[in-house]
Amino acid sequence: MRFDFITIFPGMFEPLLAEGIIARGVKQGLLEARVWDLRDFSTDKHRSTDDEAYGGGPGMVMLAEPVLRCVDAIRKEKFEVRSSNEEVRMNAAEPSSLEILHSNFEIHLIMTSPQGRRFDQNVARELREKQWLVFLCGRYEGFDHRVHELLQPDEISIGDFVVSGGELPAMVIADAVGRMVEGVVGNTGSVEEDSFFRGLLDYPHYTRPEEVRGLRVPDVLLSGHHEKIRKWRREQALRATLAKRSDLLHNAELDDEEREILERLKYEL
Ligand code: SAH
Repeated sequence: MRFDFITIFPGMFEPLLAEGIIARGVKQGLLEARVWDLRDFSTDKHRSTDDEAYGGGPGMVMLAEPVLRCVDAIRKEKFEVRSSNEEVRMNAAEPSSLEILHSNFEIHLIMTSPQGRRFDQNVARELREKQWLVFLCGRYEGFDHRVHELLQPDEISIGDFVVSGGELPAMVIADAVGRMVEGVVGNTGSVEEDSFFRGLLDYPHYTRPEEVRGLRVPDVLLSGHHEKIRKWRREQALRATLAKRSDLLHNAELDDEEREILERLKYEL
């Protein structure tokens, strides 16, 4: 999967690509990341990327032309999904997997914006399928409106608040999507058990020692009884969701066992 970030502050992406899960995914060749300095696509000698607003008022507006040029440059790049290992290529007996290996992906353009649709785990799952995400990171008052009209990006917000630039929102989105790519997080199971993955919050976790300031780890986790542990965790996940975010239960994908536990928990309350 590939991420491209268009920004006037390319240095802000260095930490993301130096340490942590996304950086590791890049080193392993599972993810690819490019950072584009918008100033390289400006049209004047001052390398301008913003100007005053027509109609007056406070705040600068990001120029359309540098953004359009940068997106054009990215579109010209070819991105073929290389199989993460040669085995896949050798075993690609079915035409479908061969097709995937040879297809060139189209970019999926995301404009970070407080006016966009709200980002959540479902949006992250949807974006994971796109293979190539290009992020427009705004500053000041945001982009000249013609960028929206001409490029019709997928406008995405990370929540109902305003931060000063699109770089942090883009990194938040890229991290949430990138960690879903197979192999990026060492243990895929741990991603699937994360909060929101199936519409529920995660169960509580404990590690050594068995006792911290008088508080013991629940006995069941020390029992070695896998079935009991599994049930306990399911119940805890439901308890946490019911107590902290009962709104999630309307859309959660529950199975019969979970529905039964939930009925009991509601009765207990
Ligand atoms: N005047 C704009 C806010 C601009 S904030 C408005 O009120 O709609 C500057 C930039 O920060 C935006 O262009 C966007 O890229 C980013 N940004 C700010 N808040 C954001 C949010 N909640 N989600 C995603 N991007 C955001």
